[in-house]
Amino acid sequence: MLTADLLFKAKVVNLIISKDTEKALDLLSQHYRVAKPNLKVGMPKRHSRKLACYAAKKRMIHVSGREALYNPRVILHEFYHHLRNCSDAQRGIEKYAEKFADNYLQAYVHTHNYVSKT
Ligand SMILES: [Zn+2]
Repeated sequence: MLTADLLFKAKVVNLIISKDTEKALDLLSQHYRVAKPNLKVGMPKRHSRKLACYAAKKRMIHVSGREALYNPRVILHEFYHHLRNCSDAQRGIEKYAEKFADNYLQAYVHTHNYVSKT
């Protein structure tokens, strides 16, 4: 069955893949009732070898380039850090950030399968 939750998650993933990452971040921020994170293409010096990172102080998601910008796993992972940063003092643990991203990707796949079967 398709729930509103699954459809929401699938929509977010679809937006990122469709190169509308800003809109995806809008939806995510509304959904979780947090301020929208800033988004920047370009990494801080210390993290120049990474694909993406989240800078808590500036509430900024840094991505290394377009590839990362339109990669739902990367964006959702970093959004999870933002969410944890906004909602409580604890920093998101990597494992949970990955689970968060996975959950969205699974919703996307599930929704796709459902649509193609019916
Ligand atoms: Zn991380």
